[in-house]
Parts: sequence; C-alpha cells; structure tokens
Amino acid sequence: MPTVKAYAAPSAAAPLAPWTVERREPGERDVVLDVLFCGVCHSDIHQARDEWGGALFPMVPGHEIVGRVTRVGARVTGFKPGDLAGVGCMVDSCRTCPPCRGHLEQFCQQGVAWSYNSTEMDRQRRTYGGYSKQYVCDEAFTLRVSPTLDLVGAAPLLCAGITTWSPLRHWKVGKGSRVGVVGLGGLGHMAVKLAAALGAEVTMLSTSAAKEADARRLGAHEFGLTSDKATFKRLAGRFDLIVDTISAPHDYNAYLGMVAVDGTMVLLGVPPAPTPVHAFSLVGGRKSLAGSLIGGIQETQELLDFCAEKKIVADVEVIPMAQINAAYERMMKGDVRYRFSIDLATL
Ligand code: NAP
Ligand code: ZN
Ligand code: ZN
Repeated sequence: MPTVKAYAAPSAAAPLAPWTVERREPGERDVVLDVLFCGVCHSDIHQARDEWGGALFPMVPGHEIVGRVTRVGARVTGFKPGDLAGVGCMVDSCRTCPPCRGHLEQFCQQGVAWSYNSTEMDRQRRTYGGYSKQYVCDEAFTLRVSPTLDLVGAAPLLCAGITTWSPLRHWKVGKGSRVGVVGLGGLGHMAVKLAAALGAEVTMLSTSAAKEADARRLGAHEFGLTSDKATFKRLAGRFDLIVDTISAPHDYNAYLGMVAVDGTMVLLGVPPAPTPVHAFSLVGGRKSLAGSLIGGIQETQELLDFCAEKKIVADVEVIPMAQINAAYERMMKGDVRYRFSIDLATL
C-alpha cells in the first residue's frame, strides 16, 4: 500500500501536524490521483475539533479535492492517466437503496462512506481526506473537472459549490426569484455567484459591513447588514428562498421574518448547538424551514459542467499546507475572502 504525506488533527484539542496515510492499492474500478489543490471547508473545522461528536482521530480533513489522474484500475472507463479529476464529500454509498437509485447518494439509507472522518462501506477501513498528496477513489464517485477551469478555484466547487447549487436547483431558482444569502464565507460567496448566474435577484445578508463591496462584485444586487435590526424590518417578507450558511448558532426566527408567503429558508450551515424555532415564525406566511446536504454525484457533475460553461470558480486565497492552523483561526473570525485553497505542492 502506498504511504503518502498528509496533515492530520491528532485530537480535537491539538493543531494539525504532518502525518502519513496509507492509501489502498487501487482496485479495478479505482482512480488514483495526485492531489493538486484542496479547499478548506468550515466542516473541516467542526470535525477536526469534534464539534459534531463521533470524530475519528487521527483525522486528515479535506473534501474539496482536485487532482491529476496517475493510474486507473482495469475496469475504469471514464478516466485515464493525465486527466483532471475531483473528489468531494462522498467516496461511496450502497448504490441500491431508493435515495442511491434516485441520484441522492448523500442520503443513502446504509450511510455514506465520507471522504474522511469515516470508513469505507465495509465499515472497517478508515478514510482520510484531501490534505494529502494522493487520493484513491472509486470511479463512480470521481468527478470530471474541465481543464478550462482555474484549478485552485475549482476545488471548492466540490463542496461549497454543490452544497449551494443543490438547493438553488431544488427550489427552482431562476429569473425573477428573490434569493437572500446569509453569511458571506465559502458557501455564501458561491451561493451569490450561482444564484446570480441563474438569473435571480440576490441580496447578501451579512454581519460584516466591510464585505458589502465584495458582495456586489460577486453578483449581489442588494446588501443587508444583519447586525442592524432595521435590516430585518426593511426586508420583512422579501425572499422566496433564503440560503443560510452561518456556521455558528444564531436566531432562525429573525431570518424567517424575511421569508415571503410560501417561501422557504434552507439551512446549509450546521452550528454545533441547536436553536429553538417558534411555530409563529412559520405559520404566519405558510413558510418552510428546510435543510440540504451537499448534492448527489450526478448533480455535482452538472454543477461542474455549468461552472465550466459560465467560467465560475471560487474566489480563493491560496495557502501552503503548513498554514492550515492559521487559516482555521481566520475562518473562525469570518476572515476569509472567500475560500482557502491548499496548494499540495507545498507538502
Ligand atoms: P465560512 O467560510 O467560515 O463562512 C461562514 C460565514 O458565516 C462567515 O463568513 C460569516 O459571514 C458567518 N458567520 C460566522 N459566524 C457567525 C455568527 N456568530 N453570527 C452570524 N454570522 C456568522 O464557512 P463555510 O465553509 O461557508 O461553511 C458554513 C457552514 O456550512 C458550516 O457550518 C459548515 O459546516 C456548513 N456546511 C454544510 C454543508 C451541507 O451540506 N449542508 C456543506 C458544507 C458546509 P458574514 O461575515 O458575512 O456574517
Ligand atoms: Zn464542506
Ligand atoms: Zn444507498
């Protein structure tokens, strides 16, 4: 088994440090890729710090992986050495349950094999993520990445991109839709770009006044400062869809006030602690509070192809692997414009 360099969290309380992982010998349906870039998702922080519980240590985070194929198994048909490829949050699922058959592998009834902090479907072999030099993934969960995309900015499409794309598609956002995006971080900035590209009228709802100019540059038509109570009054009943990407606990009831009659607020952010929701926030206006988890493999490919056509990638700050702990600290302060992307050549 090949041993490859990586960065791992040894425990919930310790910073990430150099480590090595054993990758499996590629099977006949596996694709082996040299990781070029890996985006840094807030979920990496939640998991490396065990904020959601059940974390497996040592943990190699990273699920926004773009790389170049170096080897393929005998029965792989869609990739050859030299191709670009991507791996996101999932590396396998049962493939036979109703959600899997409906291209919603993220909701597999047997439980997904995640790209890290998880096991393969045998429930034995641990998975380790993209903060490493190499990844091995079944072809069925490997994505095609267009060579026309800027690769360092394309990596975040594998999580931040698909996670925001999927609800925009599910709630049929298009021309004339009024969309509010809450939280301008990695997910939020992709939500603004994608909703605007789909023709929606987009309002950025942020706690950071300093991000207004960027929000407009990214495609937002309007900006609402959520640290100012007057914003919630001014925008009451405005949005057909609110996409909430905040990573920390906050009052959902206040944001639901900005949802239109029959509108929906979809939670993408997963704060470590629960927040109470009052029925009055929903009944007056027949509003829905929903959640959404990444997107299926077919939908992820659809997003990557859409982004290649529209030339959309994440706005990234490229960092060397050794700066990962500092990057986590900056993300905890909302100080990222708007995704860190690790250059694995530095490992
Ligand atoms: P991020 O880059 O750190 O951005 C989060 C943004 O939330 C910040 O930039 C900030 O925006 C806002 N924020 C942070 N703390 C806040 C607070 N206390 N009150 C109000 N706003 C606050 O994070 P990310 O990578 O986009 O991830 C966001 C969340 O989505 C995380 O919880 C992550 O685990 C989750 N996630 C879910 C899925 C899914 O499938 N559902 C997939 C990926 C990630 P402003 O400065 O603009 O206010
Ligand atoms: Zn993620
Ligand atoms: Zn399944």
